[in-house]
Amino acid sequence: MSERNLRRDIVETARAMNANGINQGTSGNVSARTEGGFLITPSGIGYDDCTPADVVRMAMDGSAEGRLKPSSEWPLHRDLLAARPEINAVLHAHPPYATALACLGRGIPAFHYMVAIAGGRDIRCAAYATFGTQELSRAALEALEGRGACLLANHGMVALGRSLKAVLMLALEVETLARQYLSALQAGEPNLLGEAEMDVVLEKFKAYKTDNGGRDGR
Ligand code: 13P
Ligand code: ZN
Repeated sequence: MSERNLRRDIVETARAMNANGINQGTSGNVSARTEGGFLITPSGIGYDDCTPADVVRMAMDGSAEGRLKPSSEWPLHRDLLAARPEINAVLHAHPPYATALACLGRGIPAFHYMVAIAGGRDIRCAAYATFGTQELSRAALEALEGRGACLLANHGMVALGRSLKAVLMLALEVETLARQYLSALQAGEPNLLGEAEMDVVLEKFKAYKTDNGGRDGR
């Protein structure tokens, strides 16, 4: 994809996360891998006011090219893109339900089989670290081991994907799971699926994603 189209898609993804209720205001940020580095949303700009030309081009050494400052979370995006060669897009948001769980320091256990959408038997919550720091990258990397998404304690969520479309879908799914889990917790103690059943689901998901050609790009 040309850089021009990638810039357009980054802005559209950032707008879509707000329009779908998984982020608000200038919170959150979106990046996509390029040949020599990545493109990332600018810092502190409302996504309705953000144009493709405002998206900042960065190299993996952290040098930036653009008229605006890159997202303060660029170390998180850079470190995740560097550590996970199979992914091309990173989305960070402050979704209401996922963030509520993250403020309790709780991840999402196997209360529903769809938890496997993030690649494992649960969705972990990373330890708290100040936004924009290398410590936050480290904590997120650990919580994302073998996973495509995690919660960030007292902060929000981060999701990884092969494409911007896939990463937005995953983030929406994780927020839905967080909402369902919190609702179930309000009514009682949810029954959790066992490890063996989650392993069966994880195996089935491999085929599920490709049965119709994997058109969602996951
Ligand atoms: P930026 O506006 O710098 O991208 O920061 C938003 C955010 O969510 C920080 O964690
Ligand atoms: Zn944030």
